[in-house]
Amino acid sequence: MAQQTEIIIVGGGIWGLSTAYHLAKFGQKGVLVLERNDEIAVETTPQAAGLVGQIRPSVTMLQAIRYALELFSQFPKETGHDAGLRQTGSLMVALTPERMEAYARQIERSHLNGIEADFVSHAEMARLAPTLDVTQIEGGYFVPNDGYVDPQQCARAYAAAARDLGVQIQLNTPVTGFRQRNGEILGVETENGFIASSHVVITAGPWGARLAKGVGMTTAAQPIRHQRARTAPTPGIPDHHPAVRVTDVSCYLRPDKGGYLYGFFEPTPVSINLEAMPADFRTRDIEPPVEVMAEAQRRLAPIFPILKNLEIAEYRHGMTTFAPDGAYLIGPVLGIDRLYLATGCAALGIAGSPAIGRWLARWIIDGDPGEDLVVFSHQRFGTRAADPEWLRQESEQFYANYYGIESDK
Ligand SMILES: Cc1cc2nc3c(=O)[nH]c(=O)nc-3n(C[C@H](O)[C@H](O)[C@H](O)COP(=O)(O)OP(=O)(O)OC[C@H]3O[C@@H](n4cnc5c(N)ncnc54)[C@H](O)[C@@H]3O)c2cc1C
Repeated sequence: MAQQTEIIIVGGGIWGLSTAYHLAKFGQKGVLVLERNDEIAVETTPQAAGLVGQIRPSVTMLQAIRYALELFSQFPKETGHDAGLRQTGSLMVALTPERMEAYARQIERSHLNGIEADFVSHAEMARLAPTLDVTQIEGGYFVPNDGYVDPQQCARAYAAAARDLGVQIQLNTPVTGFRQRNGEILGVETENGFIASSHVVITAGPWGARLAKGVGMTTAAQPIRHQRARTAPTPGIPDHHPAVRVTDVSCYLRPDKGGYLYGFFEPTPVSINLEAMPADFRTRDIEPPVEVMAEAQRRLAPIFPILKNLEIAEYRHGMTTFAPDGAYLIGPVLGIDRLYLATGCAALGIAGSPAIGRWLARWIIDGDPGEDLVVFSHQRFGTRAADPEWLRQESEQFYANYYGIESDK
């Protein structure tokens, strides 16, 4: 086992792997990823739907997603590894006139930011998604350059590309704490001993905030269960089928393995208090949300009647980590030089992974992420971040209104 290195990344999910890849791509040597499991990317990352959509309320995020599409599409050529991008667009469906008005605002904003997005006719919606019953919907718009990836394939592609550039990935190595002296990070304690390093990045997903608490850091990250299901295969789903967001019922849907994958932001979110859980609490310990997905099916079936007849082949669920404003929590750990924490993925961590990896790599190498990331600062909520009840309520409210009209004004 390594005893000393330049940069340690704690956590081999998609954020840690993208960070490792970007560091190595920018020429950094001595990058070591420590993952506690015997495989990379087996916690939150493989649960995801992998949607990569450019319609975002903030310009920072919009540019981040644009970078994701660029990186994922270039990845095979640049690295020889396929991130698995399917760029078949997003179809945004409206069930009410109010939603159509909100969509008009989104389209206007998209055009101002150079994103192709336009209302489409009912006939065109039926061509794009032939199982959609367009008689049940008010209207919709299409974003042709959006896409989706297979999240695990994407994470493995980052890992392979990072390894090619000299990054080491050490499995079965749980990090138990951090060593510091006079406000400077010295390295990490693991179950297998101490490893010295001059920089440490915590990308431990929902477990990151708890780890950072060990060095006195409080951030406003609330783990909330999130879920999706995949149906059995069915004929009639064309290759060009886009990802469909039915925001009025808080659901999304896309093709997967010959069937449909659909996800749901439930109105009564289920928070998970990781601090009260045993230290080895994992994604697999979360109860499968069968009832919640039955509700999602009830909501989608009026417009996708095919779902009534398709059996569920697989449930997936994990913890997405939310800040009260739904923005990431990324940056230096105050008071400890060269220690960074990135969490608060807000169910957008696959799509955001390229930008997050690039920001963190730049921060470490140049001392600056290359963009103004004050919107993601750990300190932005002040002392309220330490109030668990406030944090839970606000973050759940954000989650429940994820596709809310108000949250996108
Ligand atoms: C159902 C569902 C659907 C989603 N859909 C989308 C989507 O469509 N688009 C999108 O962009 N995002 C989506 N997401 C969110 C996305 O999955 C996450 O944002 C992303 O996977 C976060 O990656 P991560 O690397 O931060 O976390 P993780 O994948 O959880 O990785 C963290 C890693 O850290 C390791 N670790 C933790 N503690 C330690 C320790 N002490 N020592 C060593 N290693 C440690 C863990 O074992 C794990 O491998 C979805 C999530 C869910 C649950």
